[in-house]
Amino acid sequence: MAKKENTVEDSGFLTDWKYAPAPEDNKHIRLNKKYDLFINGKFVKPVKGKYFDTINPATEQKLAEVADADEKDVDTAVKAAKNAYDKVWKKMPAKERAKYIFRIARLMQERAREFSVIESMDGGKPIRESRDVDVPLAANHFFYYAGWADKLEYAFPNRNPQPLGVAGQIIPWNFPLLMAAWKIAPALATGNTVVLKPAETTPLTALKLAEIIQESGLPDGVVNIITGHGQTGAAIVNHPLVNKVAFTGSTDVGKIIQRAVAGTNKKVTLELGGKAANIIFEDAPINQAVEGIVNGIFFNQGHVCCAGSRLFVQEGVADEVIRKLKNRIEKLIVGDPLDKNTDIGAINSKEQLLKIQDYIKIGKDEGNDFYQSSCSIPSKGFFCRPTLFINTAQSSRVVQEEIFGPVLTIQTFRTIEEVIEKANNIPYGLSAGVWTDKGSKIFNLTSKMRAGVVWANTYNKFDPASPFGGYKESGFGREGGLHGLSGYLNM
Ligand code: ADP
Repeated sequence: MAKKENTVEDSGFLTDWKYAPAPEDNKHIRLNKKYDLFINGKFVKPVKGKYFDTINPATEQKLAEVADADEKDVDTAVKAAKNAYDKVWKKMPAKERAKYIFRIARLMQERAREFSVIESMDGGKPIRESRDVDVPLAANHFFYYAGWADKLEYAFPNRNPQPLGVAGQIIPWNFPLLMAAWKIAPALATGNTVVLKPAETTPLTALKLAEIIQESGLPDGVVNIITGHGQTGAAIVNHPLVNKVAFTGSTDVGKIIQRAVAGTNKKVTLELGGKAANIIFEDAPINQAVEGIVNGIFFNQGHVCCAGSRLFVQEGVADEVIRKLKNRIEKLIVGDPLDKNTDIGAINSKEQLLKIQDYIKIGKDEGNDFYQSSCSIPSKGFFCRPTLFINTAQSSRVVQEEIFGPVLTIQTFRTIEEVIEKANNIPYGLSAGVWTDKGSKIFNLTSKMRAGVVWANTYNKFDPASPFGGYKESGFGREGGLHGLSGYLNM
C-alpha cells in the first residue's frame, strides 16, 4: 500500500490513501468449458442439448457454458427427487441425514477459497464479501441445520413434524451460494429432497456445490441442481410432484408463482424485493452510522434485497451526515471484484446496469438533488459509481421502487412518529436499520416498523440462527433459525 498523504478528516477516516492493486489469484480455478445438469447424483446432458453462456460481468468474458434445462429435464429431476424421497431419504434415521449435511459443510469449508473466487468471477461481487461473508455463512448454514436434523421433536414439541416431499427451490443472482445453502440445508434437515435452480447469470457456485454433494456421498437424487432461465423455474413450480416451492427473487415473479400454486396443496415461501429504511437519529454515533449506511447500500453494489436504500436522517444532523457521506463515497473503490481493496464490484449483468442507469435518469428528471462519486471506474465490464439522491420526496419513484444498485435516496425527518410513518409508507417490508444512543427509542421504533428484520446500530448482519423474511410485497415465510425449518414441515 503506497501512501500519498495521510490525513484524518472530520469523518474520522484516513483519507487520500492510494492502494496498490491486491488481486486474489485465480489461476488455481478449474472451470469446465461446459456444465451439465446434476440429476440423480450424476451430471447429465440436457435433452435438447441446449447450453447458454455465463460471463464474468467485470470483464464481459465468457466463463463457461451451462445447460438450459427444459420441461423434460425438470421432469427427470423432480422424479429423481421423488424417488430418492420415497426410497431413501424419508426412511433414513435423522441422525444419519445430519452426517451428510455436516459433511457438505466441511467440504465447503475445505474449498472455501475456490468458492469465493468463482463467486466473485461469476457474479461480480468483491472478493472481500464472498470470502468473508457469502462462503463462510453458506457453510455455517449447513452446520447449523445439520444440528437440527435429529432434534425436530424438540424444535416443535408435541407436533409430530413430518417432511413434505420434494422441494422446488429457485434462487436469484445476488447471493448465489448463500441462497443455495439457505434453501438446501433446512430442506435436507427436515427430510425433504430438492430440485434447485440457480439464477441464469450466476450458476457456477451452485454447480460446484453439486460436485461437493457428489463427493459427500449424499444418496443419488436427494439434491438435484438444474440450470436454465425463467421457463425452467416455471416448470419446477408447476410440476405436480413438487410439494413445496421456495423462491427468492423479484416481487413480479413471486406474484406469478403465487398465482401458479393457487388451488394446489403446494406449500410456498417467497422472499421478494425490499426498499429498506435506514434511520439516523440525532443522538446516533454519526461516524459509525455513516459507515453503516455505506455498508448497507454501497458494498455489494446494492445487490441485496435488504439493502438500506432509503436513508432517513433527523434534521439536526442532516448536513453533517450528508457531508460525511459524500466524503466517504468519494473514497470508495469501484473496480475489479478480485481485488481485495475493492468496495464496489461489478453490477451483475448488462440488463441490471441498464435498469440502474434508467433509475438514475428518472431520479434526475424528477428533480431530486443528485450527487455521484467522481471515482474512476474500469472502461470494460458493468460498473456504477455510488450515487445519492438528496432531499427526495416520499412519492418519488426512486424512493418507492426497488433499484437494486448503489443508489441511495435521502429524506429528513423531525419526530419519531414522522419517520415511522414515512418508512412504512412503501409496498415493501423486508428490513430496516436504526441508529440511536437510546435503547428505548430502538424498541419503540422496532415494534412499529413493518419490516421482517430491524438492525439496531449495525446493518446487514446475518447469522444462521436468526430468521429472515418479509412483510407485504416483500413476501412471506422465514428462512434461517428455527423458523426456517417450519416451512419444510407438515405439523
Ligand atoms: P431478479 O430480478 O432478481 O433477477 P427474478 O425474479 O427475475 O429476479 O429471478 C429470480 C429467479 O427466478 C431466477 O432463478 C429466475 O430464473 C427465476 N424465474 C424467472 N421467472 C420465473 C418464473 N416465471 N417462474 C419461476 N422462476 C422464474
